[in-house]
Order: sequence, then C-alpha cells, then structure tokens
Amino acid sequence: MRDSQTLWFPYAQMRGLEIQNEVVRAEGVRLYLRDGRTLVDAIASWWCVIHGYGHPELNAALRAQADDFAHIMLGGLTHAPAQNLADRLVALAPQGLAHVFFADSGSVGMEVAMKMAVQYWKNLGVQGKHAFLSLRHGYHGDTTGVMSLGDPDDGMHRLFSGYLPKQHFVPPPEGMGHGRGEIRRSVDEALSALATALRQHAHEIAAFACEPLLQGAGGFNFYPPAYLAEARRLCDEHGVLLICDEVATGFGRTGTLFACEQAKITPDIMVLGKGLSAGYLGLSATLATDRVFQAFLGDGQDKAFMHGPTFMGNALACAVALASIRIFERDGYLKKVQRIEEILREELLGLRAEAIAETRVFGACGVIEVHEPKAWQGIQAFAGERGVWLRPFDKVVYTMPAYVIDEDDLRRVCQTMRAWFDPG
Ligand code: PMP
Repeated sequence: MRDSQTLWFPYAQMRGLEIQNEVVRAEGVRLYLRDGRTLVDAIASWWCVIHGYGHPELNAALRAQADDFAHIMLGGLTHAPAQNLADRLVALAPQGLAHVFFADSGSVGMEVAMKMAVQYWKNLGVQGKHAFLSLRHGYHGDTTGVMSLGDPDDGMHRLFSGYLPKQHFVPPPEGMGHGRGEIRRSVDEALSALATALRQHAHEIAAFACEPLLQGAGGFNFYPPAYLAEARRLCDEHGVLLICDEVATGFGRTGTLFACEQAKITPDIMVLGKGLSAGYLGLSATLATDRVFQAFLGDGQDKAFMHGPTFMGNALACAVALASIRIFERDGYLKKVQRIEEILREELLGLRAEAIAETRVFGACGVIEVHEPKAWQGIQAFAGERGVWLRPFDKVVYTMPAYVIDEDDLRRVCQTMRAWFDPG
C-alpha cells in the first residue's frame, strides 16, 4: 500500500501507520487482499455485514433502485422505499413502536433519539428534563451528544469530559449468565442503583438510554433480560423515557430479532442501524411509540421535530434494507444465529489460560477477555497468518460474524482465537 497519509484512519495513531491489508474484493465471509491472501472476516465489518459481502439479491435490489432514483429528500417529498421500510419496521418492532425517523448512521440515530426525548418533555410543558441516565460500559457512537452517554471513565471518549454535557450513570449487572462464571454485580444490586438514581434525578432526566442485554464497544458486557424488564417499569414509575439502542443488537445478534423482545418490553424509543442495511449504505431508524409521536402534534410548527439530515431515508439504503429483511425472514436467520451460538459455546467457553480473565458467548457474539490488553499484542498478525481477520479491542478479542458463516469457517475463527494461547 502507499504510505501517503491522505487517508486518515479511524481510532488509529497515524504516525508510522502502514496498513498492509488492501481489500480488492469481498464475497461471503471472505476478504480478498491485493497481496493474494484471503481472510475470513470474524467481525463482519464492525458487525453490520450480516449477509456477508456481495449478496446477489442485495446487489440486485441496489441496482434496481439506482435505475429508478438513488436519493430524494424527504423534506416535502416522499417515496416508496422509505414508506415501505417504515411500514415493515413497525410491523416487526416490539408492539407499540409505530413511527420511524430515518437517519444515516447509528450515532445520528441515537442523537435523534436524545433530541426526541428532550423535545418530548418540552412539548408536554414539563420543564428541566435535559439530562440522561445511562449505563456504565455503554457505547452509543462518536458524535457529541451520544459521546456523553458513553462510559465517562472507561470509555474511549473520556478525554472529552468538560466538553461533553454531564450525564448520570448507573452500573449494569455484570458477570452474569450466558456462560459466565463469577457474578460481579447481580440484577438486584444493579436495579437498586437504578432505582436510587431515578429517585434522586428523575426531575432532570429525559430518558434512560441503554444497549439492551449486550453492551458492545464499551467492553462487551452481557446482562439478563430481568434487568431490562424491571428498568422499563422503573422508568414508567419515575416519568422517564426508555431509549433502547439496538444499533448492534438489532437484527438477530442476540438470538431474537431485537434484544428487547427477550425482556418482553417496548421501549419508548428504539434505534436501529448496522445490520439494518446489511453493510451496504449508512442507514439508521429511530422508532417511537405513538405516545411520543403524539407529543409532537400541534397546529403550527412549534411542536414539530426539528431534525432532517440530508440523506435521511436514502432510497438505495432503504431498498437494500427491505431486501435484507426479506432474506433474513425467508432464510430463517434466527436459526442460523442459534447454531452460531452453539458452536461459539463449544469452542470458546471453558478456555483457560493464565492471561484469560473470562470467556463468554451470547447469540452470535463470542468473547475472550484477558486481564491486560497487552496480552493481545500481535494477535492481528497471528490471525492474519491463519487466514482470519480479528480486531482486538482493549481487553477483548471477539467474533461477531456474518450469519451466513459456515461451520468450518466459524470453527476456524474460534480455533485461531484459542491458538493464540496454545499455538501448539
Ligand atoms: N450504538 C451502538 C450500540 C453501537 O455499537 C454503535 C457502533 N459501534 C453506534 C451506536 C454508532 O453507530 P455508527 O458507527 O453507525 O455511528
């Protein structure tokens, strides 16, 4: 690869950075590199490429839509791909989520959720509810508003404290279920912290925001549905909206279409991204209940939701999303996720080594966590030599593959993760 620095890479120290892996083609779960190597992508391009690369039906949907039109603004105009996708999402989402606002990334979808929550209370004439309550180890994106919801101490955005609005945080249950051993914080303990925070601060809190059941980029903590179910009840009791960020969990990652389903709850606002458009184009959807939506109705503009990204409801992205949902349902993807979970459990749970703190599996997500991040130094090159693309993240190496990954490839990914501890 050229060593010019015109292209600035994410989350990377650019000094001396040389990225050797130039992808020239991608198909299924495989990345084909210019130097002739082939890598099995264990993380589906940050978890979004749920059907694998270059799915013929998604390609066809994209081409067909491009022949009609690629993009039309939704300010004062409408089109079938956006309307049909909104209808489809409402039909699939937990009962009661009846309205869809599109944007172009998970971060912006969550910004929309925050803005919607604040304006909801303003429109109702309730003063002072501008703050948010969020879970520690959370991650909701890289834009300013949602950075403030990420873990303020552990999170990757801690250097922006002082710039970011101050929010309230509570600890989630930790070390529970899904093949984990030691319980570090029980559901009851975590709920009691949540109840206390709500009792003390509900008057200033617009919404409680969380990643349901599976916290992703904040450290891959998994927690049980019982917490979310009771959190729903506590939010209602204290007059606080519940925002579920399903950007990572939506579309099957935890074994159900949406993680919220496992707690049998409907959040007031739910955000989808990543798998929604299967990695083809940036797209997010912020869904709201009718109760939230009604608060924005009025005779003039004064209560209208003041948001409208240029690319919202992009027709290419919506057409791909509709095709993606069709394939997901037709090809029984939840069964595929179930099989991935079984294999991940067989391969990863119970792995022991001095450096390993814990292994855990939930849905199509398998994690090895070490005591010290430096234990992963060199893992990426090691995996590359074995034909696998992994990206260590702080103390964690994980796989969140495309759901179409076959058993041999998945076992190869897991065996590569294990071989790091026992190369023999
Ligand atoms: N929320 C969650 C739970 C996420 O995992 C991510 C991305 N990792 C985001 C929001 C942000 O999405 P995007 O990168 O599309 O802005």
